[in-house]
Amino acid sequence: PSYTKEDVLRLLEENDVKFIRLQFTDIFGSLKNVAITRSQAQKALDNQCMFDGSSIEGFVRIEESDMYLRPDLDTFCILPWHHQHGHIARLICDVYKPDGTPFEGDPRYLLRKTLQEAADMGYRFNVGPECEFFLFNTDEYGHPTTNTYDAAGYFDMGPSDVGESCRRDICLTLEDMGFEIEASHHECAVAQHEIDFKYSEALSAADNILTFKMVVKSAADSHGLCATFMPKPLFGQAGSGMHTNMSLFKDGKNAFYDPDSPNGLSRIAYNFIAGILKHIQGMCAITNPLVNSYKRLVPGYEAPCYIAWTESNRSALIRVPASRGMGTRVELRSPDPACNPYLELAVLLAAGLEGIREDLMPPASVSANIYDMTEEDRVVNGIENLPSTLREAVILMKADPFMKETLGDHVYEKYTEAKEKEWNEYSTRVSQWEIEKYLNKF
Ligand code: GLN
Ligand code: MG
Ligand code: MG
Ligand code: MG
Repeated sequence: PSYTKEDVLRLLEENDVKFIRLQFTDIFGSLKNVAITRSQAQKALDNQCMFDGSSIEGFVRIEESDMYLRPDLDTFCILPWHHQHGHIARLICDVYKPDGTPFEGDPRYLLRKTLQEAADMGYRFNVGPECEFFLFNTDEYGHPTTNTYDAAGYFDMGPSDVGESCRRDICLTLEDMGFEIEASHHECAVAQHEIDFKYSEALSAADNILTFKMVVKSAADSHGLCATFMPKPLFGQAGSGMHTNMSLFKDGKNAFYDPDSPNGLSRIAYNFIAGILKHIQGMCAITNPLVNSYKRLVPGYEAPCYIAWTESNRSALIRVPASRGMGTRVELRSPDPACNPYLELAVLLAAGLEGIREDLMPPASVSANIYDMTEEDRVVNGIENLPSTLREAVILMKADPFMKETLGDHVYEKYTEAKEKEWNEYSTRVSQWEIEKYLNKF
C-alpha cells in the first residue's frame, strides 16, 4: 500500500497504537530498531528521529555517529501480536546523515541506488524468495538447541504437530500483515520448513524477508520453539537455502519472456544469467555470508556447488523454472537465508544489468546431472566451483572489482574486514571433530 503522513497518523489513532518500532538493518542484515511512543510519531514522520549509529556493526566512527531515520511510509504495518496494552506498529526506515544525504552504509540505500539504475534503463526488478528454516526445541532455560522431536520419525504424530501448528501460525500472522502466502511445507530435513510468499518489487521483497524472519522467530518463541535461519545447523541433513526467483519487467511486460524464441527466453534473460554467472564467485561472500554457509554448499543435499545453469535440472546453481509469459523467471539456488537481502539483491541486480549493458551471453545450459559428472567431465565442460569456504569467498570478492563498485567503499571495507575476522576466529578454534579424530590416535 501507498500511505501519506496523514494516513499513517490516522491509522495510529484508529488502531490505538501505543508504540512504534522504527526499523533498519546493519550491513549484515540484522534487524535493528528504535522504539518510540505515539507522542513522538509526528516528529518521526517529519524525519527528525535521530539515533547514535556508532555501535551498530558496520556503521560509523564515534565522531560522526548522529544518524537520522526516515520512515518509508509504505512499509507501515501493525504488528499482529502483543495486544495487551494497545498495538505496536512498525516502519522500515532509510538512514540519513545530518547533512541530509543518504548514509552509504545503509544496505537499503544500496539496493535503492541499484534499483534506480535499473529504472533508468526502463526496468523494474521483481523478486520471489523461498525461505527455508528450522524449528528446534528450546532447553529448560529457554535457550536454543538443535534438538527436535521431529527427528527420528518415531514420535511423528504428536511432536511433529508442534512444528506444523507453529508453521500455520506463521502463515496466518503474515497474512494479517498483508503477505500473500503461496505455499508452505515441511522440507527434506528433520524440523525443516519452507514458506513461500508472493514475489514483489525488490525493495519490498527485501523488506518482506526481514519481516518474515521476525515473524518466524516470534511465532516459534510463542510455541516454545526456536527458529533458525542458520544455513546448515545439522551435519548429515539438508541445509536451509533461500532460492531467489528473479525477473525484470519493462513497460508492464516480463522482459525475460520472448514468445518467438525456441524456449521462450529473451536475449535479456540470457544477458541477465550471464551477468550473474560472471560475478557469482565474487558475490558469494554476500549471498552466503557465514563460515557455516559453506557447509551447506556441498554435494548430496540439493544445494549447488558448481557454476552452471539449466532449464530443467534442480541440482544446478541457476535454474529456469518451466513457467513462461508473466511468470518467466530465473531461480538462483545458492543464496542462504543468513544473507543480507538488500545487499544480495543489489549485487544480483547490478550483475544482471551489467550482463544486459555488455550483451553478455552465458555458456550452453547443462542438462546432465552435474553431480554425476567426474571432475574431469566438469573441467571439459568448463564448469567451475563455488568457493568452498568463507575465506575463499572473501578472496574472490576482493578479486572482483565489480563488488567494490557495487557496494561502495564503506560497505565493501567494513564487510570484508568483518568477514576476514570471522574466518580467523573460526579457523583457530579446536573443533569436536578434531578431538574425536586425533586425540587418541596421535
Ligand atoms: N534445502 C535445499 C538447499 O539447501 C533446497 C531444497 C529444495 O528446496 N529443493 O538449498
Ligand atoms: Mg521451494
Ligand atoms: Mg525448498
Ligand atoms: Mg526453489
